[in-house]
Amino acid sequence: MTQQRLRIAIQKSGRLADECQTLLKGAGLKLNLRDQRLLSHCQNLPIDILRVRDDDIPGLVMDGVVDLGIVGENVLEEERLERQAMTRPAEFTTLRRLDFGGCRLSLAVDKDMDYTGPASLANTRIATSYPYLLAQFMNQAGVPFSDCMLKGSVEVAPRAGLADAICDLVSTGATLEANGLKECEVMFRSKATLIQSQQPLSDANQELVDKLLTRINGVIQARE
Ligand code: ATP
Ligand code: ZN
Repeated sequence: MTQQRLRIAIQKSGRLADECQTLLKGAGLKLNLRDQRLLSHCQNLPIDILRVRDDDIPGLVMDGVVDLGIVGENVLEEERLERQAMTRPAEFTTLRRLDFGGCRLSLAVDKDMDYTGPASLANTRIATSYPYLLAQFMNQAGVPFSDCMLKGSVEVAPRAGLADAICDLVSTGATLEANGLKECEVMFRSKATLIQSQQPLSDANQELVDKLLTRINGVIQARE
């Protein structure tokens, strides 16, 4: 078999895209990511960059389709729980938690609601894009609920009469406030993270990963 180039998946566009590119460039990769191609060759190292939807990154790593990926822990953990429930491969190795993409997955309710704990949401309907993380939290709290799966516009669900509460990503809280909601429970604190597939790498590629990780550590330490 010919020597495979190391494959790294990052978000194509969105909240993590620029920071991923900055990090990889800071680690010494010469990248030309101006065009919209899925696959880009690194010019000075045997590395290919795949730019995809962030939701696809955990599965690509868990299936060993790519070697490394950078993704939010929220998306990673949701995919892990979903695959676990379906007894599909869900293994990966965390190489390093990164210093960007910080947010929290929180429950939010009408700002005037008297929320005293998860039990306040008993038998309500909760809108979310994260049904597995929500179910894990509510089951641990022992509170029965139903969900309303929305991939977008989660924050308008209560006003639209689709749900009583929401479980959504929050960073500043401005979106919640604009929709008459208040954050009432932080379920999960997330950052972007660098993960590796559990498929064994060639010695050359493992050395490259080790070198890359050392350089990434250096970049992050330098901006601390
Ligand atoms: P894609 O088109 O790749 O599917 P997306 O719309 O699902 O993109 P983004 O909004 O770009 O995703 O968010 C990507 C990740 O950025 C989130 O999964 C999360 O880890 C992180 N993030 C940080 N702050 C926030 C925030 N305020 N809202 C949403 N995501 C945030
Ligand atoms: Zn996404």
